[in-house]
Amino acid sequence: WDERKIGVAARIVIKALNVATGLETEKIEDEWKKTGDLGKVAENLIGKKKQSTLFSTDITVEKVFENLRKLAGMEGQGTVNNKIQLIAELLTSAAAKEAKYIVRTCLEELRVGVGEGSVRDAIVWEHFGDIEKIKETKEGELKGDYRKFLEKVQEAFDLTNDFGIVAQAARQGEKELENIRLEVNRPIKVMLAQKVDDVDEAFERVGKPCAIECKYDGFRMQVHGRDGKVMIFTRRLEDVTAQFPEVAEFFRKNIRAREFILDGEAVGFDPKTKKYLPFQKVSQRIRRKYDIDKLASQFPIELNIFDIVYCDGKNLLRQDFSERRKILRKILREEKWKAVLAEQLVTDSKAKAQEFYERTLKQGMEGVMFKKLDAPYKPGSRVGHMVKLKPVMESLDVVIVGAEWGEGKRATWLTSYAIAVRDEEGNLLEIGKVSTGLKELEGEDGTTFSEMTVMLKPLITAEKRKQVTVKPKIVIEVNYEEIQKSPTYSSGFALRFPRFVRLRTEEKSAEDASDINFVEDLYYGQKKSK
Ligand code: AMP
Repeated sequence: WDERKIGVAARIVIKALNVATGLETEKIEDEWKKTGDLGKVAENLIGKKKQSTLFSTDITVEKVFENLRKLAGMEGQGTVNNKIQLIAELLTSAAAKEAKYIVRTCLEELRVGVGEGSVRDAIVWEHFGDIEKIKETKEGELKGDYRKFLEKVQEAFDLTNDFGIVAQAARQGEKELENIRLEVNRPIKVMLAQKVDDVDEAFERVGKPCAIECKYDGFRMQVHGRDGKVMIFTRRLEDVTAQFPEVAEFFRKNIRAREFILDGEAVGFDPKTKKYLPFQKVSQRIRRKYDIDKLASQFPIELNIFDIVYCDGKNLLRQDFSERRKILRKILREEKWKAVLAEQLVTDSKAKAQEFYERTLKQGMEGVMFKKLDAPYKPGSRVGHMVKLKPVMESLDVVIVGAEWGEGKRATWLTSYAIAVRDEEGNLLEIGKVSTGLKELEGEDGTTFSEMTVMLKPLITAEKRKQVTVKPKIVIEVNYEEIQKSPTYSSGFALRFPRFVRLRTEEKSAEDASDINFVEDLYYGQKKSK
């Protein structure tokens, strides 16, 4: 959760490679298109150059580190050129392999192919030494002590988000792992929700009775406090305390506890009409580093708190949700339009749940959450202790008018598709880009990226860098979460989270794509129901 970002875009790396090798940027871009990995491109190009020059200087870790730090701190005029120079300087003295990792580090895409799970398992394996000991038993189960240790390592990670700390403790033994505690002002991963299609399914998943809450359309906020010091983190564990001074101020005064970690959803509202605003309106508050007070009065937020994981020295992760909610109620001094408990109904009645859901939608909420009353808080996982129910939007039939080549393993596929609807005269108007919903592997149900690429390739009419334009022939059905107004696309609208559902090319041609009037009706309909 370190705030610093190296913050280098691909085009800066390309320029730096151009400075370091003297090759034209177009040539470098061509190479990039072939492999989808600028790290590999750097390795090749620097390798070739090194063969042809006689001398080279050694590059030190210290120098690399120094330049990377400078990159992260750069702001203002001349930044782009300075960044190019800093990277070029490293690349000039790097060997081929070094160049590869320097580039990938700058792009924040290391691609060593190690996920959190592998690191966690490596820590466990280290502890058990002899590989034989950790093998599964004949019954196919993991050995008890292996499993126990694995759980401890995972839990320690959930509490710290830092494998450095976990590895160190694990090396010292089980006791040290157990000693790892939740710490105020160190963010933890938030619990996530699974999706359900209706009230029956929701009850099935979380049991009856359960808690039903409004699903607010805002952004997740984790609020930590200790002895008057308050820190605020996003769902991605970024520290945004400075951006929300009024929230910090509120929590300094209105919690009856010395230490706490709370979880909630911040929703923006119009200060005049007191109506909630959609997330996009207030999202600028998360990033903006200047004019903070002005922005705070223009786009005030209300925090709807729905959970607590720590209170006055007590870790509450394992406590029942209903107990956690009780504690919340006790310690929070609520104030409308500042911070309140999320609206909640505890019921086992389908009729009551349905009514709550419909009323919530009428009030303009996104949907509802169903929560298991006797469940613990599971950081970072989607275990189904809470599920979300939202209305499904009417799907659209859209035409693919362009596409983009993928990166890395996906470099030979077109993986992102520009999609369009039509107007009355049959003109095609773009409405977004879709890149999810297709399958990676052959043999899975549904259309694969590779099949889509085969269909689109003969239709390509123009190609620029990684972007291609295609003849509008392929009609697909897409789902999405919401329609938004947007200046980005020629239709004036954009689909939020569009997802490929299926091919419609058999039954439909470009003329049968959804009509822009229909999209408009959906847009205003969606507003009306809010
Ligand atoms: P989704 O982002 O669609 O997966 O929905 C889950 C998100 O809904 C959570 O990460 C929260 O940011 C948000 N949310 C809004 N209201 C609530 C609530 N009452 N309880 C839990 N999450 C909520």
